[in-house]
This record gives sequence, structure tokens and C-alpha cells, in this order.
Amino acid sequence: MQEELFKKIIAHAKEYGFVFPSSEIYDGLSAVYDYGQNGAALKFNIREYWWKAMTMLHDNIVGIDAAIFMHPTVWKASGHVSAFNDPLIDNKDSKKRYRADALVEEHIQKIESKIEKEIEKARKRFGEAFNYEQFVNTNSKVIEYRSQINTIKARLAEIQNNNDLHGFKKLIEDLEIACPVSGTRNWTDVRQFNLMFETKLGSVSDESSTIYLRPETAQGIFVNYLNVLKTGRMRIPFGIAQVGKAFRNEIVARQFIFRMREFEQMEMQFFIKPGEENHWFEYWKTLRMKWHKNLGIDPSKYRFHDHEKLAHYATAATDIEFNFPIGFKEVEGIHSRTDFDLKQHQEYSGKKLQYFDNDTNTSYVPYVIETSIGLDRMFLLILSAAYKEEEVASEGKTETRVVLQIPPALAPIKVAVLPLVKKDGLPEKAQQIFKELKYSFACEYEDKDSIGRRYRRQDAIGTPYCITVDHQTLEDNTVTLRDRDTMQQERVNVNQLLDILNHRVSITTLLQKLDE
Ligand code: ATP
Repeated sequence: MQEELFKKIIAHAKEYGFVFPSSEIYDGLSAVYDYGQNGAALKFNIREYWWKAMTMLHDNIVGIDAAIFMHPTVWKASGHVSAFNDPLIDNKDSKKRYRADALVEEHIQKIESKIEKEIEKARKRFGEAFNYEQFVNTNSKVIEYRSQINTIKARLAEIQNNNDLHGFKKLIEDLEIACPVSGTRNWTDVRQFNLMFETKLGSVSDESSTIYLRPETAQGIFVNYLNVLKTGRMRIPFGIAQVGKAFRNEIVARQFIFRMREFEQMEMQFFIKPGEENHWFEYWKTLRMKWHKNLGIDPSKYRFHDHEKLAHYATAATDIEFNFPIGFKEVEGIHSRTDFDLKQHQEYSGKKLQYFDNDTNTSYVPYVIETSIGLDRMFLLILSAAYKEEEVASEGKTETRVVLQIPPALAPIKVAVLPLVKKDGLPEKAQQIFKELKYSFACEYEDKDSIGRRYRRQDAIGTPYCITVDHQTLEDNTVTLRDRDTMQQERVNVNQLLDILNHRVSITTLLQKLDE
């Protein structure tokens, strides 16, 4: 873990207008962040790269934009109402929050390790003659510990089945569980905690008006499956893509924009014929990794992490992990979800969510392969990979330059146009160039400070190219084009700028490379 580097990235992101704490003048809001002028542009470009790669490079994938609010039954059908719950308890002294069930489980583990110790002791004492079965069934301490565990497990199960929160607290008190931080048993009541944010629809405030801020975008795709199938005249296999906000009231929300309470997801559900899930799972695994590696980031920083424990309805799942300064962590999930979601919605809505296969004259509920990536996590990935500190020579001294080596097509500003000095007609010429380029690229014109300082500022926000207008420009219509990463300058004719930049910094070129 490179904690120092992570801190530097967070500080840099703030100093250069990428990410601010939300409502900072009121001291921020925990795990909520705002994107500044450069951050919003970078985020927009990542979104564009994903969206175009999905919808333009595949003639069988379309994009939608579903509402954040959805019918509350959606979340019953999806399992979020019942399964997105955690029972919480706080220690009043340490102010630390715990999952109540996790505290009890840990207590059980402690008793289990006491049993292990008794067994080990006996094994040593009896040597060859040790009989495991006989020992655990007759040793009074082991019998006592086992009976304690069984009693606790039975109570826990009953509490969970009856959703008995008072019973939960009583159990924690009876077991004399202390907070690992404060060491005290000064607990609050246990509360049931669903990670979904609730709000009320309309002016009547009763149970039936409760709606949720969606905790994932995928359900907006499932409930529109039939609409898109019909209106888009889709044939299986086909995909529906969506980018949008999702909300989770995360209990432990630290690590900057890695885990937020309001975040953005880019999800694609690919509807396929049952039986073809292995093929399409591998297909999307390969393609999504290719999308990442196409950005030119060190490939050794990526890896797959296949899930061994699968959800009961899933046939396969893998994460694409990236080596962040906080270690290898998930940035994207690829899941083979069978027909679980559509079948659930079919049952809860009473509407048939099927596909009629003309070739075989049969109907079926399609299977789904899902690719799900967090836009904010992708943003953090780009920043983490881009942040570099370099020792460079400047006017006889060495100084540290901070440069964001953001993939050029994603950079917030593609090109800065800089007159060498603020006189002799150079600003006017630079303005003219700026006006020609601004229709094609995000450009910045800057004439304050020395040229060296202006270069450093552009390096710090990741601008891949700086165009410098000097006295020679007025004579032969050439400018210098400075490369952010090598700091090399080449002299090019002003008339060539559009072509050169198009080739080097456009999303189009990036997409073409992906399709090769
Ligand atoms: P994690 O295990 O990290 O909580 P998850 O497995 O719950 O993630 P999914 O439900 O599969 O995540 O969501 C898909 C993607 O959405 C994740 O790969 C991640 O990039 C992003 N994501 C999920 N939760 C958050 C969050 N709280 N903040 C930012 N991004 C998130």
C-alpha cells in the first residue's frame, strides 16, 4: 500500500480542480465528492470512451437512460429490499460501528478456537493414543463449549428469522461482547440497515409512497428489456448499455472516490440464448480487458479475480482488478447472471419477459452476461496510473515536475495554445490558432506567467500538447508542439495542427485502435 502516494493524488486532484469534497465550505459530506472543472471533463471523456465503445462499435448494443427512481417493487423483485440489509450497532465510547451479526460470529469463532486449543493440548498429552472422536464427545470442556456455540447459533438464527433487534442487543450483552477498540460494552440499540437510500414520492407519506434511490443501474435495463426488444427490433444476442448515478449508503466509506455513497455506474446487460453463457462470458471478459489495455496503461497493473463463491443464480463471475495505490482492487465486474433477473421481474410484474426465437420457433427467457464498471473508480484508476513526479533540469537546476500522464484522448484539455511572450503580435496569432482548434478539441489559451510555468501547469492537469507561438511563427506560420511526456518539441506548420492532433488525441483514434 502506497499511502503517501494516495494522499498526494488526493491533494493534487483537489488543487488542480479534479475532485472536491462535497459542500466543502460546510466541511464536506462523508463519502460524497464533487468533480471540478478538470474532473468533470475527464469523467465526461471516460464516459464517452465507454459509451462509444459499447454502442458504436457493436451494432447489436444500444444505450438507454432510465430514471433513478423506479417502482418500489423492482427492488423487491431484484432482492435488494430483503438482501441489502445489515444489522448495525455502535459502540458509544469508540463511536465505531459494527455489523451486529459479525460481532456474534467473531464471538463464536473465539469459542471455536478454545475448542481447538483443548484438542491440541490433548493431542500432545495422549500422543499416538489420541482418539479425536472420543475426545470431543467426552471431554467436559469441549462439550460445554460446543453447547455454548449451539445455543448462540440457535439464538442468532431465531433473531435473524424474526428480525428481533432487541434480541440482537440482548444477545450481544449476554455474551459480554466488548468493542475491540474501546474495550467497553457500552452499545447502542441494534438497527436494521438497508444500503438503499429511501425517500417519499408525492405528498402522501405512507408505506406505499416509499421509493428508493437506485443502488445499481442494471435494474433500469431489465425493466426496459421488452421495450427495447420491441422498439429496437433486436435479435438475440443483443445488449443494452446505460450510464448513470447509483446510491449506496455504504457503512464503511473511506478511500476517497473508491467507495462513495453517490457514484456513477456504466453497465451493459447482454441478452443471450440459454446454453451460450460460457462463450459470451469469455467473450466479454476478453473484450473488457482489451478496452482497459487499449488506454496504454501498464498492463501488469491489471488482473482478473475469478469469484469462487457465486451468488446462487450466477454461473460465473470475475472482477477486473487494478493495482491502485491502495492495492489490487475491483474496478469492474463481469457476471453471468442466468435468467434470474428477468424471471424475477416476470414473476413480480406478471408480464412475460421472453424472446421468441424465429429459427427454432421457441420462446425462452434470455440469459444475461453483465459488465459493470464504476465510472468514479475508473477515474481513480486513470489518476493513479497518470500521477508522476519527475526530476527535471530547469535553467541549470533540477526541480520536481508533477505530470499527469492521462491517456491523451481522455485528457480534460487536449491542447494549450501559448504565445511565448505577451507582445509583438504573438497573442493575436495564438488567439487565431485557438479559435480554429476550439471546434474540434478542448483547448486552453494562456498568456500569463513565464512559458516554463505555463508548461508545468499544463503538465499538472495532463494536457498532452502545448502549442507555442513564437516570433518565427509570424515569419513562416510554424509553431512548436510540445509533448507532455517527453517534453520534446517539434516544429510544425499551423495548417497541419488539426490533422496531427486528430490523430494523436481524439477518441476516434482510440476507438479505431480498439477495433483493430
Ligand atoms: P465492492 O465489492 O467494491 O463493494 P460491488 O461488488 O458491490 O463492489 P457491484 O455491485 O458489482 O460492486 O458494482 C459494480 C461496480 O460499481 C464496481 O465494480 C465498482 O466499480 C462500482 N461501485 C460499486 N460500489 C461503489 C461505491 N460505493 N463507490 C464507487 N463505485 C462503486
